[in-house]
Amino acid sequence: MDRPHSHTYFKKAQALMPGGVNSPVRAFKAVGDEPIVVTRAKGDRLYDADGNSYIDYCMSWGPMILGHGPIKVLNEIRKAVRGGTSFGTLCPNEVVLAGLITAAYPSVERVRMVSSGTEATMSAVRLARAYTKRDKIVKFEGGYHGHADQFLIKAGSGLTTLGTPSSPGVPEAFAATTLTIPYNNIEAAKQLIARQGNEIAALIVEPVAGNIGTVTPQDGFLETLRELTANSGIVLIFDEVITGFRLSLSGAQGYYKIQPDMTTLGKIIGGGLPVGAYGGRKDIMELVSPEGPVYQAGTLSGNPVAMAAGIATLREIQSKPLFYKDLEKKTQHLVYGLNDAARLAGKHITINTIASLLTPFFTDKLVRDLASAMTSDTKQYARFFHLMFEKGVYLPPSQFEAHFISQAHTARDIDRTIRHAYDAFKKL
Ligand SMILES: *Cc1c(COP(=O)(O)O)cnc(C)c1O
Repeated sequence: MDRPHSHTYFKKAQALMPGGVNSPVRAFKAVGDEPIVVTRAKGDRLYDADGNSYIDYCMSWGPMILGHGPIKVLNEIRKAVRGGTSFGTLCPNEVVLAGLITAAYPSVERVRMVSSGTEATMSAVRLARAYTKRDKIVKFEGGYHGHADQFLIKAGSGLTTLGTPSSPGVPEAFAATTLTIPYNNIEAAKQLIARQGNEIAALIVEPVAGNIGTVTPQDGFLETLRELTANSGIVLIFDEVITGFRLSLSGAQGYYKIQPDMTTLGKIIGGGLPVGAYGGRKDIMELVSPEGPVYQAGTLSGNPVAMAAGIATLREIQSKPLFYKDLEKKTQHLVYGLNDAARLAGKHITINTIASLLTPFFTDKLVRDLASAMTSDTKQYARFFHLMFEKGVYLPPSQFEAHFISQAHTARDIDRTIRHAYDAFKKL
């Protein structure tokens, strides 16, 4: 596919910004190519600077559950913009979005809006440390919780593909406060908490791992984490930045019927604008400034336009009783199609899927944690990515990311994707 304009933009970008991008995975390093330069998006399509169109399965990494540019959300954004773009005061939209979130998540009795998922997780951990008066935290190998220092230890997403399991620049003393264990490993969690439970402030987990590709929790995994943390006075944080409003209206905690002490949200709740949130039990949240002593603030937190986009998105989801059923059906359509295509082409793949998330791994092993995800042949994924990209299908440019299905994905585009996938599998 010819992309001269995209090429020119990327060359300029490289001279101006590290790696030519503002977030690492966008650079296509994991699949070895020049990145897509997008000028416009609508429905399930992206349009690049050269006028090529792509069926999008990345969907801005999760937020666009309604598809790109949904009319109702755009209208609410326009309305909000007319009233001014930032006030730096309490505004009605914040109250509305906070109400929608707390109504959907019974475990979230109080909520604080921020501007990104990173801010949400970082603030949640500070709060948990203050609440428990302990310093250590536990995260899972391959878990991604944004880029705050304490989380860049065996972190997923771009860190997995770039081969930097931990980032330079994180002081050793910080790194030492983060303990890691393999995802889905109940025994490791039991042993760690038996040994060091009384030093641990928080255990943070993506209830469905999304940043080593999609990996679902085994039976009893989340239940055991709930029990262990409750017994040891550890704050259980569900990082639902991906799963919130994705697995169900009440996220993974509603889907699996488990109440964490704290929850972090992002992506979907901003409807494509920068929003994050953290919340949880009232007795924990009341420590947050100005009610309590734990400081956390933000110039653009609760921004009226961003809140409007979030409200419109959540209301659209709520107005459709079959919203999640329909999304899951679409996703299953694609998953069955990809499995059939691979089988007919004689390729071994393992597709992990739940709700509207999926990841095809190029391995015949079960993928249940970081180690098994790493058995995937990432060179094959990169080739598959390219073959699909050339046909106008944009998959996440890395093996270790989830594919996202939106309300805007059409059966026709999914069928087209399956046909292209069959051709691609045959060429691998
Ligand atoms: C994307 C993501 C984050 C970080 O959110 P940003 O808005 O990118 O800072 C945190 N946790 C999880 C699980 C995520 O997928």
